[in-house]
Amino acid sequence: MIFYNATIITMNPRREIISRGALAVTGNRIVAIGESQQLFDQFREKKRINCNGNILLPGLIDTHVHTAQCMLRGISEGKSLDGLSDWLVTRTWPLQGSYTEADARASAALCVLEMLKSGTTGFIECLLAGIYGFDNIAEVCLQSGIRAALGRVVMDITPEQKDQLRMHPGMYETREECINGALTAHDRWENAGNGRIQVWFGCRSVGDGNNPTLYEEVGLLSRKRNMGITIHMSEQQSDIAYAKKLGYDSLTEFVHDRGLLGPRTVLAHFCVSTEKEWHLAASTGTSVSHCPANNSTIGWSPAPVTEMLAAGVNVSLGVDSTPSNSNMDLLRDLRIASHVARMAHRTRNVMPSETILEMATINGARAMGIDDQVGSIEVGKKADFIIINTDSPNLTPVWNPVASVVFASQGNDVDMVVIDGQIIMQGRKVLTMNEEEILDDVRTRYLQVARRAGVSEIGPRWPIIKLS
Ligand SMILES: [Zn+2]
Repeated sequence: MIFYNATIITMNPRREIISRGALAVTGNRIVAIGESQQLFDQFREKKRINCNGNILLPGLIDTHVHTAQCMLRGISEGKSLDGLSDWLVTRTWPLQGSYTEADARASAALCVLEMLKSGTTGFIECLLAGIYGFDNIAEVCLQSGIRAALGRVVMDITPEQKDQLRMHPGMYETREECINGALTAHDRWENAGNGRIQVWFGCRSVGDGNNPTLYEEVGLLSRKRNMGITIHMSEQQSDIAYAKKLGYDSLTEFVHDRGLLGPRTVLAHFCVSTEKEWHLAASTGTSVSHCPANNSTIGWSPAPVTEMLAAGVNVSLGVDSTPSNSNMDLLRDLRIASHVARMAHRTRNVMPSETILEMATINGARAMGIDDQVGSIEVGKKADFIIINTDSPNLTPVWNPVASVVFASQGNDVDMVVIDGQIIMQGRKVLTMNEEEILDDVRTRYLQVARRAGVSEIGPRWPIIKLS
């Protein structure tokens, strides 16, 4: 196929932007980039797709996602919520803990559908619990055509700690169950879908009181099998207090001592991280997933993104989840990444659109360990890209395509998605998933889950008048 007549933001090492460019795809690879007529002459037999002057760029990579929470959109606002963690402990966990495998599958399908429709072509799932049914969710990803690193949850806490944390029984698993579950999933799914699927360890937070030897075992297994690891890290002040109890200045230092840091590790949030932690992340090649929309919704302190980038940390972007963010639209969140940093520094001279786009594409690919394959439009790389339709009021005119993508576009502007050389979405229709069925399935399930979980009182603070 030849995709022609596009403004191509390549994200190549020279960060070139090609005006009225074209690219040719053979199989799953980009084989040529250049001027349209030149490519027509070179590949006479190839099907041609006119991009109508729209913007073509690498697919976005979301490095922090909770697929199971997608069905819980909106639950953490409104009445009956008091404390900071109420939304998690009294809403999210009981609901998730009451899922059947079919519920988790429905939520994951909704999540993947929303990500594809907003230009995300690859993601890291951080906490897939045993009750969700790993195989079902891997199957959803496989069929949808998306790239996914699926973090299977691992924990090692006592039943007493579980009660103290108010963790729902449905979400509790023994260390043995978790590790075996992760290794079985790795044996079965690693590299499925032409290498699109990876299986990772999704470590529960250190602050949950996990046995320290868990992290040693995960570190060892990760190196032995080259499995990725992701973990929530340095989110709030309470994490620092917990680190002090363990005899450390930070939980990053605690996990580093247990061999958990390295190029296959992604630390999510890092809001209260210190200079020492940035240098540890940079020197070990550890990536960070910055989730600005989630952090600002919850009211956490702004992550020190500019400082982390200056220290040489590979910082990528994450949407996180719908209870804490409401959408899985990473394109919408790009501007928030800039807003949050500029407010924190009280200047517009930080976090330019170019930096944000690097975080959402090539840095995300590096976090997933696939920056040699995707994350930029280059000859020889896999064809993972999106086309943003600029024929709309919010994207007219385009003075600066990078600024338009980062500050003016949103998920609904994505017109086409190509992953591994396959057209996954065209004219906003996802060709690999049945959108109507997925939405209907979630609409019939979400209230059933609430009833099973015994969670009520979800809604606005204002009265709802039911008219018959
Ligand atoms: Zn998270």
